[in-house]
Amino acid sequence: MNILKPYLGVFSYLILLALLSIGLTAMSAHSHNIDLNHIGDELEAAGFKDDKLLQSESKSTTKNSLNQSYTINFATNIPEDKKAQLYTWAKHARKALRLVYGKLPVEDFVTIIKASKGGKGAVPWGEVNRYSPPEVTLVVNLDSSLEALKADWTIYHEFSHLLIPYDAGDARWFSEGLASYYQNITQARVGMFDEKTLWQKLYDGFERGNKQQNYAHQRLDYLSDHIGENRNYMRIYWSGALYWLKADIALRALAKKNAPPYSLDLALAQLQACCFDRYLSATEIAHKLDQLTESKIFTSLLSEFSASYAIPDYLTPLRSLGVEVINGQISINDQAIYSTQRRAIFIGLSKLSSKNDR
Ligand SMILES: [Zn+2]
Repeated sequence: MNILKPYLGVFSYLILLALLSIGLTAMSAHSHNIDLNHIGDELEAAGFKDDKLLQSESKSTTKNSLNQSYTINFATNIPEDKKAQLYTWAKHARKALRLVYGKLPVEDFVTIIKASKGGKGAVPWGEVNRYSPPEVTLVVNLDSSLEALKADWTIYHEFSHLLIPYDAGDARWFSEGLASYYQNITQARVGMFDEKTLWQKLYDGFERGNKQQNYAHQRLDYLSDHIGENRNYMRIYWSGALYWLKADIALRALAKKNAPPYSLDLALAQLQACCFDRYLSATEIAHKLDQLTESKIFTSLLSEFSASYAIPDYLTPLRSLGVEVINGQISINDQAIYSTQRRAIFIGLSKLSSKNDR
């Protein structure tokens, strides 16, 4: 979904666009349990969403019969001989998510896998529904290899949404930003790419956000509430990702006497421990994170970002981490004030115990 997926001819494009607008309008009416995801790129902007597939098969999932340690609900259009590979793929992404703080934020979330009927790329669509337990739906192309599935960012993005108990009621940029930030971190930590690529991907995302300036007269909070009309996915998602990066840097820079280094990973672990008994708004989550971290980081950044008219400055925080940019290419140096913190964002937990490796 890296940038443009081919689309379907002008007519289908227009029809899909119309369908998507209707869908988004309908969904905003039920936004408390629906978190429409996987945007962040021009695929969504081009209106590709296989509505018919999702509608016709949403009730037809069956539990798989393989001997597995957690359950995936496979749609009836997934052939038996494909299930083991898809299971391995989902297991890999669960492992990546566990690299945030050592365990899954929600142990019993439901993964639903459906076959795409024409989408391009390994995983043309994904979404999270905030039920209890939450459900992650992924639509895959059946001809994709395991390597292609693993290299697609969608599953890491959708799983990362589970890191906060977000009720999808306000500030969607806040939730999409978290998923956009952690999709890259979890992919890097699970070995899909190296540290330099991690920072290049984040920088490239911020740049895409910065290029989207055609609603520069609207604040991010308003823009985010009207995403179906303005379609400013880049600015909304990547402003959000920058919010979480800045919070992460601020936490890691908090040198508390005799305390081990602190981080967003650990703040989210604390949030998981205290507050996953119900869904919360973005504002409530920010307040809770402030409380847990004995800081004002999350609410003050929330005010700042909500009132932004373009993605805030990302070059300064990147530079503080030792990420330099020349002609769009990043390089890394270890002499910056927060170079150690940058390295720690990439590495995260050094190792998981093998009993958790499922
Ligand atoms: Zn998302």
